[in-house]
Amino acid sequence: MIPEALVVASRNPNKVVEFARLLAPAGWEVVALDDAQGGREATWEEDSPTYVGNALIKAVAAAAATGLPALGDDSGVEVYALGGWPGLRTARWLGEDASASQLREAMQVEVAKLPEDRRQAAFVCALALVLPQAGGQPRTITVEARLEGSLLAAPRGGGGFGYDPIFVPRGETRTMAEMPPGEKDRRSHRGLAVAQLLRVLAAA
Ligand code: IMP
Repeated sequence: MIPEALVVASRNPNKVVEFARLLAPAGWEVVALDDAQGGREATWEEDSPTYVGNALIKAVAAAAATGLPALGDDSGVEVYALGGWPGLRTARWLGEDASASQLREAMQVEVAKLPEDRRQAAFVCALALVLPQAGGQPRTITVEARLEGSLLAAPRGGGGFGYDPIFVPRGETRTMAEMPPGEKDRRSHRGLAVAQLLRVLAAA
């Protein structure tokens, strides 16, 4: 069962654009949270100890505020040599108000401290889809995907967002920001997670 319209439980416009591209072929119309009726009222606290838990917190809040099917995304970068840091704190380790470019530049400084052969990392993406059911409990589907690769100490490429200019997938020479959008979609942690979600829905 594929809903026609769903709200993305995120205020990151880059994620909304990616989901619109990723879900259009499956016939979904993606609505940004603040464009949905009631969406501006949605608030949440990302306090789960897991990516899936945080994705669910976001999706439940967006579905409750709008009455629409909602998709929550929680993503992170895990640097293996640093015990998986920053992980769940990927958006906040520099402080609540740090911008994406401040976070990336500060990460470059951390990466530069590591020997070149110890810069392996993974991008993680958890998704939670909350489907309101008439007169009953919402149906919930969760998935999680990882993309293995390594980080660079200097950015390359103008595409994507966040840490994309310093992330090179395993077996690749280009960063995610050097790939055309359609290629990032096919290969990224988010693209892999969406593919999993669509498989679960198709089997239901
Ligand atoms: P959150 O899932 O919105 O909490 O984001 C976690 C952090 O990961 C933020 O700093 C994002 O900029 C970053 N991030 C999330 N998805 C991506 C991506 O696809 N590429 C690069 N960075 C990302």
